[in-house]
Amino acid sequence: MYPYLFRTKYAYFTQLNQSLPPHFLETLPDLSAEELEDFESAQQMPPVISLRLNPRKSGTTFDKNAVVPWCDNGRYLNERPNFTADPLLHAGAYYVQEASSMLLDTALRQCADWCVSHRILDLCAAPGGKSTLVASIMSADSFLLSNEVIQSRASILAENLSKWGQMNTWVSNSDPKQLGKLQAFFDVLIIDAPCSGSGLFRKIPSYLEDWNPDFVNLCAERQKRIFQDSYSALSQHGLLVYMTCSFSRTENEEMLDYLMDEFEMDSVALDIPVSWGITATLSDRHGAHGYRCYPHKLKGEGFFLACFRKKDGSPLQEFKPVKSEIKYQEALNPYLSIGTYAVYEHDGHLFLMHPEHLTLLKPILSHSRLIKKGILAGKMIRQDFIPDHELALYHGLKNDLPSVELDLQMAIQYLQKEVIHPVLPHKGWFLVKYHGKNLGWIKNLGNRVNNYYPVNYRILSKNILPDA
Ligand code: SAM
Repeated sequence: MYPYLFRTKYAYFTQLNQSLPPHFLETLPDLSAEELEDFESAQQMPPVISLRLNPRKSGTTFDKNAVVPWCDNGRYLNERPNFTADPLLHAGAYYVQEASSMLLDTALRQCADWCVSHRILDLCAAPGGKSTLVASIMSADSFLLSNEVIQSRASILAENLSKWGQMNTWVSNSDPKQLGKLQAFFDVLIIDAPCSGSGLFRKIPSYLEDWNPDFVNLCAERQKRIFQDSYSALSQHGLLVYMTCSFSRTENEEMLDYLMDEFEMDSVALDIPVSWGITATLSDRHGAHGYRCYPHKLKGEGFFLACFRKKDGSPLQEFKPVKSEIKYQEALNPYLSIGTYAVYEHDGHLFLMHPEHLTLLKPILSHSRLIKKGILAGKMIRQDFIPDHELALYHGLKNDLPSVELDLQMAIQYLQKEVIHPVLPHKGWFLVKYHGKNLGWIKNLGNRVNNYYPVNYRILSKNILPDA
């Protein structure tokens, strides 16, 4: 049955499975010949389907699905639905995320107290899987800056965080070197590094074509540069979480050794139940702790995670409180319960922020290109307040605002930015909802209804619903 079994374990599998790139299996020295066989079989299986629920927008059809063991909000699906045709995805009620990468949830909960405030930098954040996960864990007064260096990807990141609906999440589009100038500004640094992507071979088969040992080395050099550029942004005793979706030791355990050679860091061990099927590994020279997800051992794709605590550097930078504008409270009162928010005005646009985060605006603006700051509530045009789409998706919006519940077909038409004709009791602004979750705004002018769904976010594909 296995004609090549007498050969070395690598030669055997390369012969058996031509679809894996040459030399790839040599990057898995930790797996025995038997395990390589299981690994190879798993590569032939379809990828696992999973998503993570938004705890601030609870109540989806997936709530009762099987839970991802290392993330309470993670859910497995038996098959892949047409997510685009589900308005709840657009409402930010869940995020479609690979299950293994949700291990970040366990890591963060074990390494920090999330009842207290943290300042977090998610350095390589698009499209937003890890950022939305962090946002769901952190306290209301914590601050998350999600950064993405590539402009087009940064816009998608901002869209996903707007849908997630929190005012303590900001987005920047900057080079890590720029953010490194924010010295000791963050006490948590998350680096989900660009990598060779071998962990996602069965989910994104095109990665098979790109993979070669030179590419792995190129990725490793880039990972080192990212550390060098951003290390100074982390405060003393700050937490660094490093992740890849690669199987290569060069990008994983060797990178941990590099970190311990170059910087003053302690490796942090996690407490992972054996039943989860996660493989604990150690780096060769410093014995730094890493955690590997292999698709033949658990329900998920390939993933690697390691945590460090910074020993040197300055304590977290403190800033003097800044006074918030109170003059716009009148415009915002109809939309928001009196609560903990400040209003920042720029060019007639009103942004909702946690009052303590106002102080962070100036230093961050001096080193980065901010594309989302808190929640863009809307703009003032003379005496009128025009609500923005981001406000509709904010989880803290009053729940007795004028609204209309749409059926699936009309909800999709709304998301396609088509003209819709719901029955409305009076003129003015209405929230449109699907299964009780806000999708955006419409305005009833009496003779017509204007659809305020953002043109950039609209669903482009037509006929996405099965015929009734
Ligand atoms: N954290 C994201 C999530 O969970 O959705 C996935 C991040 S992906 C693994 C790595 C990201 O790093 C990509 O969005 C990529 O554009 C970005 N990137 C590429 N080159 C980079 C560089 N030199 N410095 C920082 N980020 C980079």
